[in-house]
Amino acid sequence: NGVEALKVDDTPKATSKNLDVLAEFKKSKSKNAANFVVIGHVDAGKSTLMGRLLYDLKVVDQRTIDRYRKEAESMGKSSFALAWVLDQGFEERSRGVTIDIAMNKFETEKTSFTILDAPGHRDFIPNMIAGAAQADFAVLVIDASTGSFESGLKGQTKEHALLVRSMGVQRIIIVVNKLDTVNWSEERFMEIQHQVSSFLTTAGFQAKNIAFIPCSGLLGDNIARRSTEAAASWYTGPTLIEELDNSEPIARALDKPLRLTIGDIFRGGVQNPLSISGRIEAGSLQTGDALLAQPAGQKCFIKGLEIDSEPVDWAIAGQNVTVHLSGIEEQYLKIGDVLSSPSSPIQNIKQFTAKVLAFEFLTPMQVDVHRGRLHAPGTIKEIVAVLDKGTGTAVGGKKKPRIVKPGQVVRVVVELDVVVPLEAPARVVLRSNGETVAAGLLE
Ligand code: GDP
Repeated sequence: NGVEALKVDDTPKATSKNLDVLAEFKKSKSKNAANFVVIGHVDAGKSTLMGRLLYDLKVVDQRTIDRYRKEAESMGKSSFALAWVLDQGFEERSRGVTIDIAMNKFETEKTSFTILDAPGHRDFIPNMIAGAAQADFAVLVIDASTGSFESGLKGQTKEHALLVRSMGVQRIIIVVNKLDTVNWSEERFMEIQHQVSSFLTTAGFQAKNIAFIPCSGLLGDNIARRSTEAAASWYTGPTLIEELDNSEPIARALDKPLRLTIGDIFRGGVQNPLSISGRIEAGSLQTGDALLAQPAGQKCFIKGLEIDSEPVDWAIAGQNVTVHLSGIEEQYLKIGDVLSSPSSPIQNIKQFTAKVLAFEFLTPMQVDVHRGRLHAPGTIKEIVAVLDKGTGTAVGGKKKPRIVKPGQVVRVVVELDVVVPLEAPARVVLRSNGETVAAGLLE
């Protein structure tokens, strides 16, 4: 079996500093890194809110905002200026080849955040799935204005919440937005909180992982600063930034074996002929370490490391790194492959069981399995059971369903055409004919 072939010597290069990376991390007072995805009905104010966040935290400067504001005003859409912050970011980044979801970064006192944003365009769902696959938590934006909350509930609000939960996102912050349009009515806020809590619980979120904040993204109330509106004085809880920062440190798998999925490969550098970049999903690494590249089963070494273009000696789970490699030919590496620690490597598998949310009708059928940038053709071999969305237990007796309806949560067995480095609890997306048909968690 493949396991035997994996007995790879994990002795680091003699040049290794042999650091205790966890101790270094604690000493360094490095900030936590957290990724989140922004979800909600179209026009709920997601782009405006995120623009506001970036503006208030001075990620975007006044001049840029003034310029957008002028342009927006000349088009008679002055309120769009904030939303453009994100769109601009997206355009700039989309010229690069590697990033297919808009990313924006900002820092609070304790945490360095990445917004995996998916503004409400036509391709929203695929973008959001990509975002949810990497998210530590979700921010759900709800339009509190009269009638909009109700139509949002009928629209995408529930669908998005269920989707992120199905993909393993446990924590959700609900921005009850546009409260300026209802004169900061506490009653309205409470009514929304009541209804949304109840459907989030049904979707499988635990009460302790749900927080509600009354906001105005457009005006900036309760985002980075507390609202000064007299009508909003009933609210004494945290601002959005405080809530983001107050969260328990995101439990990173720091002391687990290294897992790093290759997001990009750079070849032909003068000093570093072969480098990769990606986010460390678990464990840590340091210069000199031996790595195992899967599925190729090839050993290599870390020649150097960079974070945000700065050379570093080590890096840990949650961080995005560039790794300069030695001792491996480029033919053994491709995007989506996994670098892991040779002493406890990730295994290549050919079949797995997953709990997924169906977006389309599912039957035993051919699918493409996506996990981040890794993808491989396969087949749904068996639909084991339909599951309760909240509890995850099987419903409907012992009989195996032959067909699954959109919106159902099911356990499926998937067989892959090729071996792939994959292990629980990976978030997987199943696609067919270019459409996402299901998404969920490997068991
Ligand atoms: P998205 O589709 O969820 O990204 O929504 P946008 O950010 O594009 O906002 C939709 C509309 O709602 C725009 O006209 C915004 O100016 C407006 N809007 C967003 N946030 C607020 C808010 O807090 N208060 C008010 N009154 N309008 C807002």
